[in-house]
Amino acid sequence: MVLLGSSREGKSLKTSPSHYVQLQSVEDSWPEGLLVLMYHLVGVPPLFHRLRGLYVTPRHLAWQLRELQATPDIHFSTLGEWNRLRPSGRHVEITFDDAYRNLFVNGLPVLQKAGVRAITYVVTSLIGKSNEWDQVGGARREPLMDRTQLAEWIAAGHEIGSHGLTHRSLTALSRDEARQEITDSKHRLEDFFGQPIRHFCYPYGDWNEAIRDMVQEAGYETATSTIAGLNIATTDAFALRRFLARHQRPYLAALTRL
Ligand SMILES: [Zn+2]
Repeated sequence: MVLLGSSREGKSLKTSPSHYVQLQSVEDSWPEGLLVLMYHLVGVPPLFHRLRGLYVTPRHLAWQLRELQATPDIHFSTLGEWNRLRPSGRHVEITFDDAYRNLFVNGLPVLQKAGVRAITYVVTSLIGKSNEWDQVGGARREPLMDRTQLAEWIAAGHEIGSHGLTHRSLTALSRDEARQEITDSKHRLEDFFGQPIRHFCYPYGDWNEAIRDMVQEAGYETATSTIAGLNIATTDAFALRRFLARHQRPYLAALTRL
């Protein structure tokens, strides 16, 4: 199934899919390069919920990982490894935005069983709190991982990156405020967890050249956007493209297995 659409920035290739449901949905446009999958919540999507599309069930996450692992020429990588080497061939990185508690409870066991490493982007001033930025718009309260859970996530072999301090759109802030979101969040995570924080994710996918440059100047190595697409050798490390991984309805999954 190929879903056509454009990203928030309006820069996606019109011929590319905008979502990832199964390998077949990107296979034709993926001869090589890094495929970054973007997940958010791991759990059963609540009925009639505005953000229903951001939930993937643990079963479906497991199914998507198994499908990728079963394809011999696809290699799981990390943003840092791929970005430093820009190797040829097909590579995948799994990302989870916002560091939800249900990623820890429902997603971590799936990743451990599959032996797949992932990164989650932490909203630094909301560690142990909840998705306050979405509740303003009427979304369901979803708890975020606390420091102990994030430490266990790291101890299990996974990475964390910064998603800013407060999940505000950086393009709507003054330069000083944006710089604070980008640099203070990095330093705070480094203090909390005693390791360098190398990867940034733009809240809402909102960025421009000035924001991009601030992220680079702050000492990050990569930044992920919400522009749909694959990353090739020449892709800007501070505008990495991703596909939103979507849940597939059970009857469609059954059909595709026939
Ligand atoms: Zn987010």
